[in-house]
Amino acid sequence: MPGMEWFKWQFFGSHVEHGQQTLNSSHNLYLVFLAWLVACAACLAVLHMVERASNAEKPAAKTIWRWLGASCLAGGIWAMHFISMLAFESSHEIRYNLGITIGSLLIIWVSALVAMYLLKQPGLSRARLMMAALIFGIGIASMHYSGMSAMHTNSLQHYDPIGVILSLLLAVGASYWALLMTIALRSTYGLTHQFFKYAISFATGTAILGVHFIGMWALHTYSPTGDTAQGHIETNHWQLALMVAIITLLLIGSSISAALVDKKLQQKEHDLARVNALLSQLDEARMSLQQVAHYDPLTNLINRRGFNQIFAEKLAESSAQHRKLAVLFLDIDHFKRINDSLGHDAGDELLKTIASQISGAARTHADVVARFGGDEFCILIDINDRDEAQSMAKRIMYSLRDPIELAGRRMVMTTSIGISVFPDDGTTSSELLKHADLALYQSKGNGRNSLNFFNSNLTVKASLELQIEEELRQALDEDIGLLLHYQPIIDLKHGRVVKLEALVRWEHPEHGLLGPDRFINIAEANGLITELDRWVLRKACNDLAALSRLGWEQLGVAVNCSALNLVREALADEIKSALLSSGIAPHRLELEVTENALMGNISKTSQLLRQIRAQGVSLSIDDFGTGYSSLAYLRRLPLNTLKIDRSFIQDIQTSSQDLEIVQAIIVMAHTLQLVVVTEGVETLQQLELLSHCGCDLVQGYLISHPVAFDALPELLEQLHHTHRFGSSHSALQHEESNRS
Ligand code: C2E
Ligand code: MG
Ligand code: MG
Repeated sequence: MPGMEWFKWQFFGSHVEHGQQTLNSSHNLYLVFLAWLVACAACLAVLHMVERASNAEKPAAKTIWRWLGASCLAGGIWAMHFISMLAFESSHEIRYNLGITIGSLLIIWVSALVAMYLLKQPGLSRARLMMAALIFGIGIASMHYSGMSAMHTNSLQHYDPIGVILSLLLAVGASYWALLMTIALRSTYGLTHQFFKYAISFATGTAILGVHFIGMWALHTYSPTGDTAQGHIETNHWQLALMVAIITLLLIGSSISAALVDKKLQQKEHDLARVNALLSQLDEARMSLQQVAHYDPLTNLINRRGFNQIFAEKLAESSAQHRKLAVLFLDIDHFKRINDSLGHDAGDELLKTIASQISGAARTHADVVARFGGDEFCILIDINDRDEAQSMAKRIMYSLRDPIELAGRRMVMTTSIGISVFPDDGTTSSELLKHADLALYQSKGNGRNSLNFFNSNLTVKASLELQIEEELRQALDEDIGLLLHYQPIIDLKHGRVVKLEALVRWEHPEHGLLGPDRFINIAEANGLITELDRWVLRKACNDLAALSRLGWEQLGVAVNCSALNLVREALADEIKSALLSSGIAPHRLELEVTENALMGNISKTSQLLRQIRAQGVSLSIDDFGTGYSSLAYLRRLPLNTLKIDRSFIQDIQTSSQDLEIVQAIIVMAHTLQLVVVTEGVETLQQLELLSHCGCDLVQGYLISHPVAFDALPELLEQLHHTHRFGSSHSALQHEESNRS
């Protein structure tokens, strides 16, 4: 190559030994540069492949990348070596043994593969790393020296052992360093990652080239004959070298491109998977949100919001198809009592059972059952006529008749139902719900455990009630219209009047004299009851004081007290002040509380009752038998009197069962040292039976209807003088014959 002399490395100086002449040799620097480039490219390729192998998801892909990596590395290093050899220019003719050359490629390839597999384990130990470096380093050196042995010249060759050891150390050391760097590379990102990748590749490529040239430096060639003729042999090695370099670079380049394409594809796949995962997460979140928004977690029924949505859809459907729909509004009777007495957990348990009983009564999945909160349920059904709605309501009421086991007690719950029908009772959901609610209100007014259809009178009634509330408030504020009637309660033994029950009335300007059933509920619903009962208490005490002045000093008065007042601590003070201002002795006053009121917050009520009792005021349990009270409850309360409800004696003449119940109640009450009053006595037979059973006191139309205060003195006088209802049987008989 004329003109290129300046560009050739003079590798070894003159060296004479045993009369032999060291041969001059040099390297073509262009080719050396090419060799370096190939080595660096191979290192870069293997870094890419290692990355792919660790990121690939399928094991087969990992294997492919490992093999490709090993091949790129081995091929690259081998090509580097081969090109460097071709860069070596000697005055002697050089030939290469093809078999050994290919064998050297095999050595480096196998060691690269072994190193790759040693690096496979995720938690790489230092020992394993060293082992890989050792195998690969020895691989490089072995390839170099076996490759060198493929070179045939007619000169003698000799290796300097220091050079050989140095080249081996560099090969192992560079491999170890490169492996460490490859691992460190995993924790870098972005531009840093790219920079390090190239830096490692160039450094390692340079080191491997270094191994080659240290190996070359260790090689001493000399002419066996001492012939130093420096005839230049023209070779076309550099063309071969260029070809090998181009082919190798092309192969490495396409491997790297394959790795880059694969990386992009994998990223795309990951992105897609991430988007899919995000979408499904979003879906789940939306669904659980809907669940929360539209379902009642306690009973798993839909809630009011869910119901409204379905109701709107159903309404549209029904009106398009000219079909009827029924809305059943349902309220568990006396649920609050259960909640108050047995606790909220028991209440929740009860609601769950009831919910499943109601759902069980539904006909198909088309029937919509919802819980509106508290103890309110709503059911929506498609119907052909009203009878279907009625039989559905009856089925629900029937299904609730199974006793429910709760907190160790068996109880039977009842329900009140109000029904409205589309399109007869309304065309919008709010109208239909309002009308079903009104019908429910009516059912409750009817003594509960009943069902009612909406009728237009109910709307009139509702507005009437609103008006009554207004007027009652006014009556209380101005103290006009309200008055008390008194009903005597007599002692069965002597037939004497022992006390009077004060019963409130309202002289309404339009509707005339109203009984408490017309306004007590309204007063209770609107917080007017406190004021009303306070008014009754004061009025009754004052009236009794007036009676005392007329000579009735032994009489007592019983005043009714709403359940809602029993939770007010001020009640005790109000009683005290009523007694003080009227000058009535406390033992002459009795407070009547219904059994249901006592079932509320028992610990709180019993404390208040004890306070009232401590003042000397008597306490009476009213309407006994209509609630759920048990003996255990009654024993905890400071009671004096028990009033058996009218319903037990209505059929006492004909029903032996009722008679037995009354007898049992009287025995039980007497064991608890309670005085027994029976209310609602209308016939002499009832009176006689009660007298036989040992009842102490009676009250009822038979003796007298409740009368106004003005009529009281005369009535009392009359009852006092006749003694008609004493246990002297002649008087009773006399009365009986008078009637017939
Ligand atoms: P209650 O305390 O059980 O009063 C007895 C009710 O039975 C009274 O009805 C009375 O008129 C009625 N009665 C008495 N004897 C007979 C009879 O032989 N046959 C029949 N069929 N009924 C009889 P009234 O006056 O309509 O009172 C109804 C309820 O209203 C009372 O039941 C009581 O719970 C409540 N009430 C009355 N006055 C007041 C009051 O001032 N405050 C409160 N919170 N409630 C009151
Ligand atoms: Mg009463
Ligand atoms: Mg009563």
